[in-house]
Amino acid sequence: MSIKLWIFLITFSLGCFAAAEDIKYTELYSRIKTSLDSVAAIDTHDHLQPFVDIPNRVETSKGRGMTLYSIWAGSYLRRTTAISPWPEDGSFDSWWDQAQDDFDDARATSFYRYLLPAFRDLYGIDFDTITRDEARSLNDRIFENYQNDQWLKEIITDRANIELMLIDPYWNRLQFAREYKFSVPVFNVTTIMRGSHPGQFSSSPESDNPFVFARRKGMETKNLDDFLEVIEALFGEAKASGAVCLKSTQAYQRSLSYGQVSKDGAAAIYGKSPKEITAQEQMEFEDFMFWRVCELSAKYELPFQIHTGDARIQDSSPMYLVDLIEANPKTKFILFHGGYPWVSETGAIAMKHKNVWIDSCWLPTLSYTMAKRAYAEWLEALPSDRILWGADTVHAEGIYGATEFTRECLAEVLSEKVQRGELREEHAKRIGRQILRDNALKLFPQLKALLWR
Ligand SMILES: [Zn+2]
Repeated sequence: MSIKLWIFLITFSLGCFAAAEDIKYTELYSRIKTSLDSVAAIDTHDHLQPFVDIPNRVETSKGRGMTLYSIWAGSYLRRTTAISPWPEDGSFDSWWDQAQDDFDDARATSFYRYLLPAFRDLYGIDFDTITRDEARSLNDRIFENYQNDQWLKEIITDRANIELMLIDPYWNRLQFAREYKFSVPVFNVTTIMRGSHPGQFSSSPESDNPFVFARRKGMETKNLDDFLEVIEALFGEAKASGAVCLKSTQAYQRSLSYGQVSKDGAAAIYGKSPKEITAQEQMEFEDFMFWRVCELSAKYELPFQIHTGDARIQDSSPMYLVDLIEANPKTKFILFHGGYPWVSETGAIAMKHKNVWIDSCWLPTLSYTMAKRAYAEWLEALPSDRILWGADTVHAEGIYGATEFTRECLAEVLSEKVQRGELREEHAKRIGRQILRDNALKLFPQLKALLWR
């Protein structure tokens, strides 16, 4: 064989090897990723508390603050993997003695890997190979960064490039606070649906309690009609305070199968104390309230974010909501977390029902591979203006990690479609921008007034 032929064969096989290589190492991917990175994102679901309340601060020799422990303790890794507790002596080294092995069985999990971009990009550290000295210095730098709220704001707005963030305040439900210039209030309706009797709130904070709200407004709650007026007043207050949507996380407490219960039926249950009411009656009252909230969602033009999928896994499939979705065509339903693990079912529901949007918040963090499959499939099954995203976490590192994870995931999916000739590059970039930003502006038009860039 001639030298030329050899050179040709070698070059050709290298070319084939490169083509079979991971999409992330291609020029195409870096162009699309750069384009997605430049989009000032609108994060439609997060749990960022006021700076002083950011959870998992611990006592250290330098005082109370955020540490490497705090970052992992406030991460989703805890759902599957125990993180060693912060030690009594408050010393990083005692903690690391225990904690360094915590990650061994989690290396491939998305609950672990979504935080790696934060350590890599914000601190220059590869957590997979981290040494004790690197971990100690990382711990110290985290502590320093949280001396005031500057780091938090800078990471969210500059590094994660988030312009607006819808905050679901599960720690302070009925207050509609707006803590940061980028935050947008969400009306969390989870607790009001339990309101068959004030006793249902005996172990809840006052801020979650619609009866406390009623008292403050001087409103009666003697019968169901009174209570429904209180609920409408809450909707009015939420709307006036700038809330742009509703959110329910009832999937953590009960089935998403909401039966149709008549108003008379609910009125007969209303007022029964927690001692008198049966579990079945309480369930029926909540069924009635959920349908009522769907109606009010349409009336007040507040789209309804519903946690679906991973929660009480036995009955949290979004398929349970289909009858309700069909019966409430004027309500805009947003199915959260892509319905994980029922991502195909969620796509099919949105394909069939124009009043359904899919929010992919949390999905790449649950399973990166499932998220890739989901985006690829949904883009084939429904118009690209019906998919949203959110970081769904609690501190700067988590928000950065989940955001970067999502941008990488989307960039992979879009690049693969372009590479296979199924999408033009300029269209792929436009779709990325829609998912990260434009779709939220279209679904929640009030956001336009809050843009600050
Ligand atoms: Zn959430």
